[in-house]
Amino acid sequence: MSVFSGTRKWIYTRNIAGRYQKLHRWSGRALIAFLFVAPWLSWGGHPLVRIDLPARRLYLVGQIFTASDGFLIALTGLLAAFMLFFVSALFGRLWCGYFCPQTVFLEEWVRRVENLVEGDGPTRWRRDEGPWNADKIARKSAKVVILAALAFALGMTVLSYFAGAWNLWTGAAGAADYTMVGVIVAGALADWLWFREQLCIYLCPYARFQSALTDENSLMVGFNPEAKIEKGRDAAEHGNCIDCKKCVTVCPMGIDIRDGFQLECINCARCVDACVDVMGKLGKPTLVRYTTIAMDEGKPMKIVRPRTVVYGTIVTGIAAVLLGSILLHNPIEVTVNRSPGTLFQIDADGHVRNTYMLKVVNNDPVKKHAFAIGVQGLPDVKVSVPPLILEPGEDRTVPLVVRVPTDKVENTRSFDIVVHTDGEERTVHTTFKGPAHGGQG
Ligand code: SF4
Ligand code: SF4
Repeated sequence: MSVFSGTRKWIYTRNIAGRYQKLHRWSGRALIAFLFVAPWLSWGGHPLVRIDLPARRLYLVGQIFTASDGFLIALTGLLAAFMLFFVSALFGRLWCGYFCPQTVFLEEWVRRVENLVEGDGPTRWRRDEGPWNADKIARKSAKVVILAALAFALGMTVLSYFAGAWNLWTGAAGAADYTMVGVIVAGALADWLWFREQLCIYLCPYARFQSALTDENSLMVGFNPEAKIEKGRDAAEHGNCIDCKKCVTVCPMGIDIRDGFQLECINCARCVDACVDVMGKLGKPTLVRYTTIAMDEGKPMKIVRPRTVVYGTIVTGIAAVLLGSILLHNPIEVTVNRSPGTLFQIDADGHVRNTYMLKVVNNDPVKKHAFAIGVQGLPDVKVSVPPLILEPGEDRTVPLVVRVPTDKVENTRSFDIVVHTDGEERTVHTTFKGPAHGGQG
């Protein structure tokens, strides 16, 4: 038994070419290219995509979102969840087969490196079963070194979305950022070298929801239920499976699709390409194909059904609200809190003084703004506040002092703090405490 075996059944997939593998390659390459290029791009002088956690700010295609935009982030999460439900109801595990990072990196990086360094599935299996000699050690070491370099590139890229690509790659980011890169590198290597398909089978929650998200009309990969499994070429003449097992040897999840639908199947369609190749050479249609339970029972495929209508309506509704919110995104945010310590003070010149902490955020991604602060609703009021000129994306908290002659305000009075800039105006409703309030500090 190989030292790699243990109780684990290692999977050594054969290489396969075909229509769906081409689709995989292009979707995988497009996703990887976007992942690696996006952190280096900017839009309107800001990163195209960046999550600045210390500043609690999200930069996204020219917009700046702050902590007060939390509902937009919640809405985006909700949209992603319902999109997944919607797509699953229509196309089954399309996400798993073509877009999940686990599939994309295993297909595009890990298996390619293994093929290059250790050979295709059967060759790898023979080498793993064989003794540890110089050739095997050299190949295993080369694989680990190449995958470690790729994991490092991946870790740096993922962290670039948080720490900024230039910062990170020039060594200017903080120790915590490089520690996180180390964690990602270790996690990726553990996954690529050891955990692999077990992540889909044992850890991924999406696989567990499958039966709830799909129905008899959802697309899946399946074996023709009318075909029998027989040995020999004659079987093909009767539309049966010749038991060549090619569909089994290419499966990255180690399953036999001829046993029927299985939870482990990620709908990657490697088995489809395998059977297309085998049966194609015999001039027969493939026995493994994209299908639905309904189609296998001879019923027509139904796209419009209660589940797809409900999910589709929810997705459209959330997308419309999200788009509207982003387009009407407030470029200025104002928050007012009473200064901690005292409710009011009586100044020597006979004025009642209330002090507030005024926070202004300039969410404008390109323009510097000078803010004017005014007060409405208090008699003979005097306001003092430091000048507020904020760079794009900057926020600042300043003390705002509001004073009213003692004889003009006895009890609590409501009033408005108004913040103006370039035709934009924000009003915050608050209260002014007078001496009769009884709460002098
Ligand atoms: S590839 Fe097709 S013919 Fe070969 S075992 Fe699989 S289903 Fe049967
Ligand atoms: S059974 Fe086919 S579609 Fe399912 S995981 Fe295996 S190769 Fe992919």
